[in-house]
Amino acid sequence: MEKEKTKHKLIIIGSGPAGYTAAIYAGRASLAPVLFTGQEPGGQLATTTDVENYPGFPSGIQGPELMQQFREQASRFGTEVVDASVDRVDFSKKPFEIYSSNKQYQTDAVIVSTGASAMWLDLESEQRLRGRGVSACATCDGFFFKDKDVVVIGGGDVAMEDAIFLTKFAKSVQVVHRRDELRASQIMQDRAKANSKISFVWNTEVKDVLGEQDVTGIRVINNKTNEESEIACQGLFVLIGHKPNTDIFKGQLALDKKGYLVLKEKTATSVAGVFGAGDVHDHAYRQAITAAGFGCMAAIDAERWLESGE
Ligand code: NDP
Repeated sequence: MEKEKTKHKLIIIGSGPAGYTAAIYAGRASLAPVLFTGQEPGGQLATTTDVENYPGFPSGIQGPELMQQFREQASRFGTEVVDASVDRVDFSKKPFEIYSSNKQYQTDAVIVSTGASAMWLDLESEQRLRGRGVSACATCDGFFFKDKDVVVIGGGDVAMEDAIFLTKFAKSVQVVHRRDELRASQIMQDRAKANSKISFVWNTEVKDVLGEQDVTGIRVINNKTNEESEIACQGLFVLIGHKPNTDIFKGQLALDKKGYLVLKEKTATSVAGVFGAGDVHDHAYRQAITAAGFGCMAAIDAERWLESGE
């Protein structure tokens, strides 16, 4: 049976701040974009609670509400939002081909804004208490832990940088790491170790996050001695890395060794007509506002590229 087929000027893959901002700009440029939300409509912000650092909301806003407003604004300017994931892409031919739910879409240009997903410990209690003491973003949530005891999981640069950042608010920061050696660069290690509010718990893994409504502590096990113990804390920052959502682009677009999208010039990817925006290529800033900024840039670049008729 022949697949249903439609043809478009621009398809946007991903529905975080980057994707929706690209859609707002492209919609207002009369490109009538189609945006695929993916499995997590609204992206990482849709699973957070208070967002207090997005400009324009002086009293803060809930993450899901903010993303709903992004979606409404994109729809208002003619974006067709499709609540589905893209299963496969073919960027080797023009127009490009995109497959979703047994339907084929053809398009002249694409913006990839599939984001990155924070890695988690995969404990039931960790997921249940997300937004209620468990976080994967110190920049976003550190402010809520004034004078509290917090634990950071991870031994990389992000864990060190964020542990130091958290000392601005928290009473104490314990870094719990599964080995007795940090992965972080020497300079970050030195800075963290020199901070009197930071202490280290080595060779230790988290078995459970404790608390019914809010985090009250963690149960840990020393993987050398098998000894179990509890650490009291009100905040748990799981900072063990991110995974860019680029599996469907392998072999189609240039990716770096960690799988992040590589941009050539401005927001252009390795394939002319395919642009990238947001956490899918940006592992440095990872903020809603920076992702939105990249989305705007990608839409302008896509519009200019389409106009140039290359
Ligand atoms: P990294 O991959 O560098 O570090 C992840 C850390 O989490 C490691 O210590 C790892 O342990 C630990 N970890 C991974 N999985 C688990 C698990 N399941 N349970 C417990 N611990 C786990 O990621 P980052 O996010 O820290 O950094 C990403 C990149 O960004 C890096 O290349 C980093 O250098 C860079 N960066 C650089 C900065 C700077 O230069 N100032 C600032 C921020 C980021 P183990 O060590 O045992 O593998």
